[in-house]
Amino acid sequence: MTQVKKMLALHEPVFAGNEWRYVKECLDSTWVSSAGGYVQRFESIVADWLGVAHAVAVVNGTSALHLALKVAGVQAGDEVLVPSLTFIAPVNSIVYLNAVPRFVDAEEATLGMDPDLLASFFENEVEARADGHCYNRTTGRRIAACLPVHVLGHPARIDRIVEICNRYEIAVVEDATESLGSFYNGQPAGTFGRLGCLSFNGNKIITTGGGGMVVTNDRPLAEHVRHLSTQAKRDGFAYWHDEVGYNYRLPNLNAALGCAQMEGFDELLAKKRQIAQWYREDLQRAGGASFILEPPGAKSNYWLNGVRVRAGQQISNVMSDLQEHGFASRPLWAPCHQQPMFESLTVGTMEVTQRLWETLITLPSSTNLTRSNIRGITRCLTGSV
Ligand SMILES: *Cc1c(COP(=O)(O)O)cnc(C)c1O
Repeated sequence: MTQVKKMLALHEPVFAGNEWRYVKECLDSTWVSSAGGYVQRFESIVADWLGVAHAVAVVNGTSALHLALKVAGVQAGDEVLVPSLTFIAPVNSIVYLNAVPRFVDAEEATLGMDPDLLASFFENEVEARADGHCYNRTTGRRIAACLPVHVLGHPARIDRIVEICNRYEIAVVEDATESLGSFYNGQPAGTFGRLGCLSFNGNKIITTGGGGMVVTNDRPLAEHVRHLSTQAKRDGFAYWHDEVGYNYRLPNLNAALGCAQMEGFDELLAKKRQIAQWYREDLQRAGGASFILEPPGAKSNYWLNGVRVRAGQQISNVMSDLQEHGFASRPLWAPCHQQPMFESLTVGTMEVTQRLWETLITLPSSTNLTRSNIRGITRCLTGSV
């Protein structure tokens, strides 16, 4: 039997701290579910790290997005601005509320939604009506929110996006599910919008198995998210509920894992940036394929390292080459505006989204990678193996 060489994964978690201890403590206490001390502790650790007033832990990033959009006021029939070049979760969360996604093209420098397109959309295609809201002139729908995503951990031009949306009184909900630990102009990603959403899925920068969080400085919004995430239960004895809620609260068992992960977070971030630096050194020297750098003004968590293949190269060939050498790699997500479930309403030509999708692949980025792992990957990429 031939020995199958283990592939170097794209992103795998590392449990090098108190994870075993806290999970055992949790089991020993029998508080594994919705009550217990770890949930609140995890919420305050993350809130403190980000410098926000409120954090509500939920079962995953998608439920965080769903509730954040709901408390931001998104209603059935509204339109929500969102990038097309993203994992599908934020778009689904819009549709859960029976609202309609409107896809904004990306920009090359940040991979995020293009603020200039956003600005011209508001200037040319939107009208303010007497009810104080903005409406899309063509569709007649109210523009209810803007949901930018920090793609691969690299911050979008979030200051400009927030400035434009503030001018039109549009709520910004930040999808920071890939960007915990990233900064833009010295401010943590996820803290620019009215609400920010995090994910602690197994492939994210830190993990609770599955998990998510809504962060905000707005107390009523935080309380509303918390209320909705616990079935909108008004009292825990007679079980009166005052609206239709969800069972979205993060279990204590998962939060225990999160507390331990956050203890090693600063060290983990430093290792992530070290790995990015190794990729950068190798790929710069080799020329050709270009490494995706953090945008100007940003300090990225480099959640997933990305590279644009050389002109004329097909990403499928590059990926199979990497696979043959035992390295996982992946294309970006198929653009959301081309998915069959969604109305293909777009802002911009979607050329940049298309081009990035066709030329960018993501590379192994786990914190247990060594210098020689990275050298192996970059040699393969530059064709010098
Ligand atoms: C991972 C991710 C989510 C959703 O997170 P889950 O915890 O898997 O539900 C949302 N948006 C983006 C951009 C993501 O990458």
